[in-house]
Amino acid sequence: MPAKVLDGKKIAADYRANLAQEVEQLKAKGVTPNLTVILVGNDGASQSYVNNKKKSAEKIGMSSSIIHLDESTTEAALLEEIDKLNNDDNVHGILVQVPLPKQIDETKVLEKIAPEKDVDGFNPINIGRLYAGVETYIPCTPLGIMEILKHADIDLEGKDVAVIGRSHIVGQPVAKLLTDANATVTLLHSRSKDMDAVLKRSDVIVSAVGKPGLVTKDVVKQGAVIVDVGNTVVDGKLTGDVVYDEVSEVAGAITPVPGGVGPLTITMVLNNTLLAAKRAQQ
Ligand code: NAP
Repeated sequence: MPAKVLDGKKIAADYRANLAQEVEQLKAKGVTPNLTVILVGNDGASQSYVNNKKKSAEKIGMSSSIIHLDESTTEAALLEEIDKLNNDDNVHGILVQVPLPKQIDETKVLEKIAPEKDVDGFNPINIGRLYAGVETYIPCTPLGIMEILKHADIDLEGKDVAVIGRSHIVGQPVAKLLTDANATVTLLHSRSKDMDAVLKRSDVIVSAVGKPGLVTKDVVKQGAVIVDVGNTVVDGKLTGDVVYDEVSEVAGAITPVPGGVGPLTITMVLNNTLLAAKRAQQ
């Protein structure tokens, strides 16, 4: 039987419809959730990501602004801009689009965003809070992956899960969330030995590497759930880490690329912005 397709677009659309209702309720109380995105420079891909975030926020009734700064902006000027947003009660969520020009230290920028407005969850304070198990903003891609897994008809408790990739934005936080869901997680990376043996016994594989062709049919257990986070442009086409056509012959459920994890990532930016607006009222 071919794998069930975990349709990220549909899951995201349903999730956003619920968010829109909650936004409506908050607006009735006089609060319009606001997402403000800072873009430094003129990178084409970054511009389209930022516009997409603004449009998605407005579509569910939030307000959203883009602050577009020149490529030559100094670190001090950017930090000052963030400071203004930190102190603006009408702004609930702040995102700074990466990559940043080389004169700006990304860590300083992430540390400057007020933890209560850090809807990406990348401020080291929020990362620490995630591992301490206290109120935080969970990074958006890992949160989106957990939402997709809810639709995979799998109870994660006691299951063997392999996460490939150990970045701070995807691999490590998703491994933490899966562990919290009582899965037994193996976190794999470029130095892992005998990765194939781990994959072959895994009930769930989350691949967050950016290497097309990494996960093939022969390392996937019959019926396993496959979440493909990889996004690499190959011949103008967005491509995942998983060889979709062959792996879907053996997997129980699988995310496509595009249309899998991607739509959930933006959805969770909106989710976290709504959460920030609600928390600001408490
Ligand atoms: P990253 O920071 O470059 O991390 C990649 C990870 O993959 C590293 O931990 C690296 O190991 C590991 N790796 C590299 N080659 C490997 C191999 N042959 N076998 C096993 N592990 C290997 O990337 P990222 O930011 O986490 O992003 C990963 C992918 O997800 C990218 O394609 C990115 O575009 C995509 N992404 C998609 C979304 C979405 O919304 N769909 C969101 C974020 C990212 P080492 O640590 O040992 O170097």
